[in-house]
Amino acid sequence: MPDPAPAISPPPHRGRFAPSPTGDLHAGSLLAALGSWLCARSAGGEWLVRIEDVDRPREVPGAAERQLATLHACGLVPDGPVLRQSGRGNAYRAALDRLLAQGDAFHCHCSRADLAATGGVHLHCVAHRRRPDPAVRFRVRPRTRIGFQDRVQGWFEQDVSREVGDFVLLRADGCWAYQLAVVVDDAAQGVTEVVRGADLLDSTPRQMLLQRALGLPTPAYLHLPLLRGRDGRKLSKSEADLPLDPGDPLPSLQLAWQRLGQAALALPSGAGPEAFLDAAAAHFDARRIPRSLPPVDG
Ligand code: GLU
Repeated sequence: MPDPAPAISPPPHRGRFAPSPTGDLHAGSLLAALGSWLCARSAGGEWLVRIEDVDRPREVPGAAERQLATLHACGLVPDGPVLRQSGRGNAYRAALDRLLAQGDAFHCHCSRADLAATGGVHLHCVAHRRRPDPAVRFRVRPRTRIGFQDRVQGWFEQDVSREVGDFVLLRADGCWAYQLAVVVDDAAQGVTEVVRGADLLDSTPRQMLLQRALGLPTPAYLHLPLLRGRDGRKLSKSEADLPLDPGDPLPSLQLAWQRLGQAALALPSGAGPEAFLDAAAAHFDARRIPRSLPPVDG
């Protein structure tokens, strides 16, 4: 009798929070940190943290360490080592070489000014002169439409060829592009569900294209409502009136919980972040997350 086929168990549920070290953690990033932690924990899964420090010119010295310390003060402790994208160049290079060999990527000498006529969208190369340091772009074939079901935002579809065009994988300044790094790292870390702000909803079709071209699995996606100021802009680190006090993080955690549409928790008096998180994980219901939030003063 042949041996029975071994049971194939599904990969463990794994979420992540992936801040860019461009400033301190604020109310907007805490929403993504707590939201991703709750989705992972309430599903009995793991939660990882990744520092997305590929954009060296935008990095603020010391920000990554402060973000990690604030997460720790909030009780949001990752289930594994923190991955830093600055140390992942070899993995990105291998992915890029594969895309180049497959004909899915190409060197591009176009400048921003060259692409002004098409609103910045790269449809084909129109460079006026060759650069010593060309960018590398992903080739988006004509009529490429990608759609997916987001757990909060619902069905989202994009004509990537028309709305985005051939997108950058390696910048002319030598920095790896977010789109490539995030896809390579989500796969390397075994992430099964990506929970992040809705400002990245329209990046997801690009990331799905890259996953397909690299033979990588596509995780589930949940895009949280974005915290905006009254001017409609995404809240940034400069919103001084939304401080996250690492010495007393509970009020910020409770506000984020409320913004995630969750019912008030009855906490014992004197409860700290850990007691809050235990109760929150037990009562979290992702179906209550709103698609958008009213603007906050900022
Ligand atoms: N690093 C990105 C940011 O801070 C988030 C990337 C992601 O979650 O995919 O906006």
